Amino acid sequence: REAVKNPRGVQIYSAALESRSVARIGLAGDLRRAIESGSLSTHFQPKVALSNDALVGVEALVRWNHPDRGLVSATDIIPVAENSGLIVALTIEVLSQSLTQLATWRAEGRQIDLAVNLSPRCLSDVDFPVEVAALLEEHAIDPAHLTLEITEGGLASDAERPLPGLQSLRDQGIRLSLDDFGTGFSSLSYLRHLPVDELKIDKSFVLNMATDASDLAIVRSIVDLARHLGITVVAEGVETEMTLNLLRDIGCDIAQGFLFSRPLPPERLDSWMAARTEPTGEGALRGLRVVR
Ligand code: C2E
Ligand code: MG
Ligand code: MG
Ligand code: MG
Repeated sequence: REAVKNPRGVQIYSAALESRSVARIGLAGDLRRAIESGSLSTHFQPKVALSNDALVGVEALVRWNHPDRGLVSATDIIPVAENSGLIVALTIEVLSQSLTQLATWRAEGRQIDLAVNLSPRCLSDVDFPVEVAALLEEHAIDPAHLTLEITEGGLASDAERPLPGLQSLRDQGIRLSLDDFGTGFSSLSYLRHLPVDELKIDKSFVLNMATDASDLAIVRSIVDLARHLGITVVAEGVETEMTLNLLRDIGCDIAQGFLFSRPLPPERLDSWMAARTEPTGEGALRGLRVVR
């Protein structure tokens, strides 16, 4: 038996509570109310094309301004949401907020796309693809402007048969990205069966690639793999100019990381965008790879 300490410091001894921390149960209740009352928020991090430095998109990352705990990050929110059956509702909320914001940006003439993270649970929910379609319709967003990022870990149960939700989303014209690529156990076998449009190299390989020869070799191989598959490749966790230059040299398409900006609330990203000069003309088209 374990003594579980609740937030008020009371010791509770209970077999039923052994596996679930009191703090987490409390947090799940708070999270449910936060989703219902619309008090979650979405931050956005820029994605930049390496060929011409154009802003090509933003990734939506959930945040929660908790009344007592302050700003709670996604790494703390997502496990709570997944363990308490709230993850689909949370994802729909993030999609709704971020598509609303994308519609505003596109109406202002910003030619950017949106990436949103999915939990695998969303792909076994039959209503999920229908709700995504309804949100795209509501905001008059072309599905090609939406990329859904899925971690390989989440798909580990059955790489041979992609979850039906995946195909349904793909059939709508939504792009699919394999997030944190390279950290799963069978990264390569997924690629034979999953209809993906993008590989997103995990930041653990990118962070030190300028000083670690093995990391560089791995990043280079993933970039080559994506090129041979004819799909887009994105590096996350780009923190230094040196890393950026290396990524450009080895032919990576898109970079994302603190070097450009941390994830920001939309009004602060507006200032960030206003301070930049975007490339103009034909060369500015998308972040897509020019045939080499
Ligand atoms: P991710 O999708 O791989 O997102 C990238 C994470 O790396 C973000 O953490 C981001 O803040 C951080 N990051 C970005 N650039 C850099 C950098 O240059 N250096 C370093 N050290 N870190 C960087 P965050 O926002 O805490 O999100 C963590 C994870 O939580 C995400 O990883 C994603 O898997 C998940 N997540 C976030 N928002 C959502 C959501 O709305 N739904 C779902 N299902 N998952 C989400
Ligand atoms: Mg992601
Ligand atoms: Mg990632
Ligand atoms: Mg990650």
